[in-house]
Amino acid sequence: MPRIDIDLIEEEWDDDFRPPSDSRYSQAAQDRIRRDGTGRVVAVDRGRVTVLFEDELLEAAYAGSMRREKVTVGDRVRVRPPKHENDSARVTERLDRETVLLRTADDTTEDERVVVANAEQVAVVISADYLDVGTRFLDRVLVAAGAGGLDALVCINKLDLVEDTREVDDVEQRYAAAGYEVVRTSAATGEGVDELKWKLEGCWTAMTGHSGVGKSSLFNLLVPDADHLVGEVGRRGGRHTTVSARALPVPGHEDTWLVDTPGVRSFGVGSLAPGELAQHFPELRDLDCALDDCVHDGEP
Ligand code: GDP
Repeated sequence: MPRIDIDLIEEEWDDDFRPPSDSRYSQAAQDRIRRDGTGRVVAVDRGRVTVLFEDELLEAAYAGSMRREKVTVGDRVRVRPPKHENDSARVTERLDRETVLLRTADDTTEDERVVVANAEQVAVVISADYLDVGTRFLDRVLVAAGAGGLDALVCINKLDLVEDTREVDDVEQRYAAAGYEVVRTSAATGEGVDELKWKLEGCWTAMTGHSGVGKSSLFNLLVPDADHLVGEVGRRGGRHTTVSARALPVPGHEDTWLVDTPGVRSFGVGSLAPGELAQHFPELRDLDCALDDCVHDGEP
């Protein structure tokens, strides 16, 4: 009976992957993988993973051993160089995650999706003229961030649209009192954008918020050459391919990455038990309560 080479079959499993013809497989990049085969995922597009090695980007496919375990933006991964000319580099292992931002499609499902891995913080953008809707979304992300070990930053944008800032002051005070950083911005006038940039310094930050609050506008101010970089990091072949998230470097700030999370319209927290939720509201967590799984909703 002929011997079946399982390794070979598995390695060729993701066969729609074609090694890029440009410098992503430069000798320098390959040497770097050989020296230390771990890098950080900056974009995932179906079976293609873009990995950052120090300052070099490299495209890799999944190794057969990664059939079940997929990676997300921010993941630290082990990669091996291509084995032959027509092979591609392969992601062979996902290293343990330090933080993870999870969401469920809605609150009735426990089916979790990873938004970003290993990010230090999440920046939630809300609009100064729709604070009501914004803070409901915000609370959900803050719970998910708390559960996943991320810090959170509240960004109140479109400040130029409100004349009377009392409501903004109130929201700022409430969230600052609960221990969150708050920054006021206007992508239209540029107000607060430098302050926001400094709050990103040295971190991987996922930016999220309802559609229309000004995320793309802020993103473009923080990463001015993003459109130029999109060919480089994800969204190959046009803007609307299925890249779920991508990380882009904030120029002029070392080790500072901003993660765009398009398509994240809802932030379900369906995988958390009601009693667990209260643990992620700082102002409830510190209440002196006799019940372990109290939801603080009418219990004695
Ligand atoms: P996204 O859906 O969250 O990415 O929001 P966009 O960045 O696409 O912005 C939605 C709309 O709001 C666009 O028409 C922007 O020009 C506008 N916009 C964004 N930020 C501001 C702001 O700070 N002030 C004002 N007045 N308009 C803004």
